[in-house]
Amino acid sequence: MAQTAPRQPHTSGWQSQDSAHHLHPFTDYKALNAKGSRIITHAEGCYIWDSEGNKILDGMAGLWCVNIGYGRKELADAAYAQMQELPYYNNFFQCSTPPAVELSALLAELTPPQFKHVFFTGSGSESNDTVLRMVRYYWKLKGKPYKKIIIARDNAYHGSTVAGASLSGMKAMHAQGDLPIPGIAHIEQPYHFGVAPEMDVNEFGLRAARALERKIDELGECNVAAFIAEPIQGAGGVIVPPDSYWPEIKRICAERDILLVADEVITGFGRLGTWFGSQHYGIEPDLMAIAKGLSSGYQPIGGVLVGDKVADVLIGEGGEFFHGFTYSGHPVAAAVAATNLRILRDERIIERAAEDVSPYLQRRWRELADHPLVGEARGVGMVAALELVKSKSPREDFAPAGKVGTLCRDICVENGLVMRAVRDTMIISPPLVLSREQVDELIEKATRSLDQAATRLGEVMR
Ligand SMILES: *Cc1c(COP(=O)(O)O)cnc(C)c1O
Repeated sequence: MAQTAPRQPHTSGWQSQDSAHHLHPFTDYKALNAKGSRIITHAEGCYIWDSEGNKILDGMAGLWCVNIGYGRKELADAAYAQMQELPYYNNFFQCSTPPAVELSALLAELTPPQFKHVFFTGSGSESNDTVLRMVRYYWKLKGKPYKKIIIARDNAYHGSTVAGASLSGMKAMHAQGDLPIPGIAHIEQPYHFGVAPEMDVNEFGLRAARALERKIDELGECNVAAFIAEPIQGAGGVIVPPDSYWPEIKRICAERDILLVADEVITGFGRLGTWFGSQHYGIEPDLMAIAKGLSSGYQPIGGVLVGDKVADVLIGEGGEFFHGFTYSGHPVAAAVAATNLRILRDERIIERAAEDVSPYLQRRWRELADHPLVGEARGVGMVAALELVKSKSPREDFAPAGKVGTLCRDICVENGLVMRAVRDTMIISPPLVLSREQVDELIEKATRSLDQAATRLGEVMR
């Protein structure tokens, strides 16, 4: 995919209009315009095609979301039928629509037993904004209006709206626009390789979990509303917590009078081998934020699953909750999401991936740890990461960070594989319908890309 080859005329036309008019999310505009965007035109199964005709294995399932794979006609048919029947109606003013009703009932069936209610949103960010408003409202209804602070973690990703970015623990996001907003605190993340590789991994997991206890004490339990965390931190670099971490967090939350919120936007709908990441780790949260895999990305839709503890108070004592979106429970998005969930359930896509392809993927992924550039290979279910290092022993990271990751990512695409870079951590989160043959292809392309990156380090490091 040499960038020097002449481009297809439609590619250069799209690229110049894109540069002229389109401000992309999370993008350095000058850098993008110097290069031109890759125009993705169609997709099927686990592959995407760009406007130059390159076929690329999508190791990221879009943006962690196309769990069911591309090209499921049933989802397109559901959208088409719903658009003809009722393209839009809202769920305000004591109205509802059949798709919103059916999706909420389906979610009650597929989620852990404490969840019988869902509040619909249009995205993961809106879900976390809803979480923030709902937990504060809950404590107000409980007669404890001062319980407002939400504890989140460094390097978390909870979205890009004001509340989402504030809950996120990313310094670069906070630096743009005076974030976080008041009432949000952050604690250490359970990132063994990045924070304390010299420590025993489970000792470190306990330390990272006990940071929650210390923070609650420091702020005063009477002021803390909730703790929010991703079961596995996704955008932060697929940070798999030590085995000791979640049981200790659970102990702390059980002892303290605060709500536990799982941000399941990535880990929901099968990513870790169970329907929800909370089930993989036995978390039992009070609230779960969902989006992405809910519709496998075919339509923008998210939600907050509200456990009985909170729902009973909202319903029983709440009065009007002054919160909601024009597109909450959008009928087309809801119809597509419900079709997606039925296919995941009826074809046992999550269970089949957990039994067959993900153990194979994880085994083959671990083989990459032998590569001279790889300091650690980790993962769970259908998500995994590689830490690129300058030297394994003694351990030395690349400085400045991020250049080698970006180089490796670009080489991967040249080799027909989407693998994302977070600093110098390479990550994958492929569709759950990946086959064993496609795992082999992914590993072969990743290995070739690592080899090439190793010989081209001089291009980015001096
Ligand atoms: C992607 C993501 C979000 C934000 O979702 P959007 O739909 O992009 O607003 C929130 N939390 C997590 C864990 C995510 O990965």
